[in-house]
Amino acid sequence: MNTVLVTGASRGIGKEIATEFASLGYAVAINYNKSKDAANTLAMHLMKEYKVPCGAYKADVKNPLEIKTMVESVKSELGSIIILVNNAGISTQKMFTDLTGEDWKEMLATHLDGCFNCTKEVLPHMISRKHGKIINISSMWGVAGGSCEVHYSTAKAGIIGFTKSLAKEVAPSGINVNCVCPGVIKTDMLNIFDENTLNNLQQQTSLKRLGTPTDVAKAVAFLASKEADYITGAVLNVNGGFF
Ligand code: NAD
Repeated sequence: MNTVLVTGASRGIGKEIATEFASLGYAVAINYNKSKDAANTLAMHLMKEYKVPCGAYKADVKNPLEIKTMVESVKSELGSIIILVNNAGISTQKMFTDLTGEDWKEMLATHLDGCFNCTKEVLPHMISRKHGKIINISSMWGVAGGSCEVHYSTAKAGIIGFTKSLAKEVAPSGINVNCVCPGVIKTDMLNIFDENTLNNLQQQTSLKRLGTPTDVAKAVAFLASKEADYITGAVLNVNGGFF
């Protein structure tokens, strides 16, 4: 069975990515950290709707032991992971002068340690099979830099560096590593913004609408597809022409 692991998949963009892969016939491992009920409900729904094996797997992406256990369980229950989507993330807005060391560490750990831990566990199986696709979810703020989001932008820029370097290293093993940089996408992550800010962001977007999780999920599915076999180390903007 061709199996996909999507981190942070109980809601938002991750949920849509999991749904997209299930609709394409993949077995889907839905990683969650806290939202057990939502993850289980999604797994049940995808199994019923698309008749593919799915499971909900708890692990904090910051925790290497939890990730190791999760990947072992996914392997024994759903089969080897051939597509990994590093999607789990957090977002906060703070002036740099108000950022604490804890804010900084939590942000970098969630995004960078998260990518590191999951990739570390999944990659050896991909290398032994000489095939695999890793898609990392960065952000347009990782490319452009975002005011009051120095910690978030730094973490997301790190994911771009991670993607480009790993892509070169594992290309000879038949593994593609790419990243997607979403613009402003309508999910719970935007709850930190008031309506006025959201309207301004929409106006700054060339296509004059906010993005949807589906916009991102379709780009991820393309990068995971055979049609994208010659694409690696790419940074794909899905931002409605924000810049
Ligand atoms: P969201 O808050 O709805 O979803 C994020 C998911 O990640 C949640 O399910 C959360 O529980 C999970 N998560 C957080 N920390 C985790 C951890 N330590 N271990 C496991 N899971 C964890 O947000 P979203 O908009 O769906 O974001 C998905 C990804 O897209 C994130 O990496 C985010 O930074 C990125 N992104 C989002 C936007 C946007 O506008 N929504 C823009 C650019 C990039």
